[in-house]
Amino acid sequence: MKFKKAAGLIYLFVAVVIISCISEHFTKKETSLFEKAVQQMEYQLDYSNLYCYSNLTEELNAVNADMENKAVYLTFDDGPSARTEEILDILDKYDIKATFFVIYNESDKAKEIIKRTYEKGHTIGVHSASHSYKEIYSSVDSFLSDFEKCFEYLKDITGDAPSIFRFPGGSVNNYNKAVRKDIADELTRRGFTYFDWNVSGEDATKNYSEDSIYSNVLMGCKGRNSSVVLLHDSENKKETVAALERIIPDLLKEGYVFLPIDENVHPTVFRID
Ligand SMILES: [Zn+2]
Repeated sequence: MKFKKAAGLIYLFVAVVIISCISEHFTKKETSLFEKAVQQMEYQLDYSNLYCYSNLTEELNAVNADMENKAVYLTFDDGPSARTEEILDILDKYDIKATFFVIYNESDKAKEIIKRTYEKGHTIGVHSASHSYKEIYSSVDSFLSDFEKCFEYLKDITGDAPSIFRFPGGSVNNYNKAVRKDIADELTRRGFTYFDWNVSGEDATKNYSEDSIYSNVLMGCKGRNSSVVLLHDSENKKETVAALERIIPDLLKEGYVFLPIDENVHPTVFRID
């Protein structure tokens, strides 16, 4: 009898120890998840004006429309500059609209060009304030701080909050592996949409010419129903402007339609792992 009682007490003791270990394990896990969530929240609470709620409800329709039209979305990064003005004249000549991902620039001339671009009906998107990869990709916070500066700048000039952006160097590049997913998630949460590209003029590489840009774009668009074309309108891109003079009429002849990116366009994005 005594032995049975002792065995019963031992069982009870073991059960209590096991239960307390299990419950401690779960409590610990919950705490650490919560702590992690709080850590992630820090930058989410900052930049309180950095929100944009355009919706992408008609994505599917837009994709279908693209398929019928063989749509080409010309996009220009790194402006404004004197080249932007030349590009605007060319676009006017053919009565087509495009998209400009802009870098912050304090000069009155730059602001005037951005205003003109906007008033002509082209889409303006955020690119960067500093365009310094090392700086902006050092943390999500750094990216948001830089992004906010460019966002506010464009909003002041046009009176309209930009809703789209392009990552400097594209969403997947050698500088942003550690932060790109968190940046994409956070800006998506705030209502922004980013666009990479599926056709590149390769006008930011070491060796390029008017001919190489022209053939990269024409070959790239061939067979595609929806082409998001990467080009640059920074100061030294004379070849891009010259190539554009040939790209537009030749693609028009082949039945392509040029459109600006808007909130109904299905985003072309690289895969972020
Ligand atoms: Zn850029």
